[in-house]
Amino acid sequence: MNYEELMNQDVVELKPSGIRKFFDLASTKKDVISLGVGEPDFATPWNICEAAIYSIKSKKTHYTANSGLLPLREEICHYLDRQYDLKYDPKKNVIVTVGGSEAIDISLRAIISPGDEVILLQPCYVAYEPAVILAGGVVKYIELTSENEFKLTKEMLENAITPKTKAILLNFPSNPTGGIMTYEDYLPLIDIIKEHQLIVLSDEIYAELSYEDKHCSPANFEEIKDQVILISGFSKAFAMTGWRLGYLCANETFVKHILKIHQYVIMSAPSSAQYGAIEGLKNGQKYVDAMVEQYRQRRNYIVNGFNRIGLPTHMPKGAFYIFPCIKKTGLTSVEFCEKLLEEANVACVPGSAFGEAGEGFIRVSYAYSIEEIKVALEKIGKFMEQFNENHE
Ligand code: PMP
Repeated sequence: MNYEELMNQDVVELKPSGIRKFFDLASTKKDVISLGVGEPDFATPWNICEAAIYSIKSKKTHYTANSGLLPLREEICHYLDRQYDLKYDPKKNVIVTVGGSEAIDISLRAIISPGDEVILLQPCYVAYEPAVILAGGVVKYIELTSENEFKLTKEMLENAITPKTKAILLNFPSNPTGGIMTYEDYLPLIDIIKEHQLIVLSDEIYAELSYEDKHCSPANFEEIKDQVILISGFSKAFAMTGWRLGYLCANETFVKHILKIHQYVIMSAPSSAQYGAIEGLKNGQKYVDAMVEQYRQRRNYIVNGFNRIGLPTHMPKGAFYIFPCIKKTGLTSVEFCEKLLEEANVACVPGSAFGEAGEGFIRVSYAYSIEEIKVALEKIGKFMEQFNENHE
């Protein structure tokens, strides 16, 4: 029997993530230094762990309200107001999810009808395209460019909209480019989003990791706030990737319908993680600030290092990735990463894993200690000598 034929063909045709594929290869080698992983190297702040442990000791180990513990939703609303001037009602506008990942999935499933187009900005996080396809949507790409600091412009957006466009998925600060959008960058887009009644899924999981300008959300624009589904979570800023906790905020109608999917397929996010997160939001800001300061120092160090080695790298304003240009080597990004792994034992992610617009670049994470980054830079520097000699 051909079991594959029994399956949904959209699923059969999905390609495994380019990141995973590459790291499976890296795991076959010994003593590899990785700058590839997109998760904090910091431990979860201990006050969060203690609150979660205490919840278990107190036998708070059952389902919570479908949309999450009310005290957590309240703290999320306080936090968004305090940090980003965003006002949401904990009883009407918030769903606590299993990571930002679930929030992306259930939002897309709730808004897409078969054939609806969803605009994605390339290069982008690897999970977006599969999530759109699995929800029955059609992906329409806008290619961002390094010359433009990987920002979205009015012209790009206008050219991508068709009568079938239902939504646009934004992710600023961006994985993989570290690019951001400021208030001024968003301003020209607002009328277009309003006029075409686009739903904006805004994945702001890296919002706290904004190093220069204050983070701006499309939901900061009152004219379109009710068209925005804000997605965020605890994985990155609170170093809680394994706890699997995120959330979404949106208008009451969106929330009412999205909640049905969450209710039927998830019930509620993990209870101990929710108790931990309440503590994190209440008393964890100093730990978040300290981690962000470390990322800032690493960013400055690694960007200077890559430019010194001869791989042009712009200074990203957010997240914890740099996106060096490797075009001078004449290699594709996959060839470059394979050769780097083979000859220098350093693992980075090929830019093409994030879509065609990422070709000619590699994604390098600086969620690693300065000491690890230093060793990796020395190895990459030696590796690059063969290319620099050829071009001098
Ligand atoms: N969005 C982006 C842009 C990400 O980089 C990630 C994690 N790599 C996620 C969402 C998913 O995060 P979570 O752990 O909250 O599901």
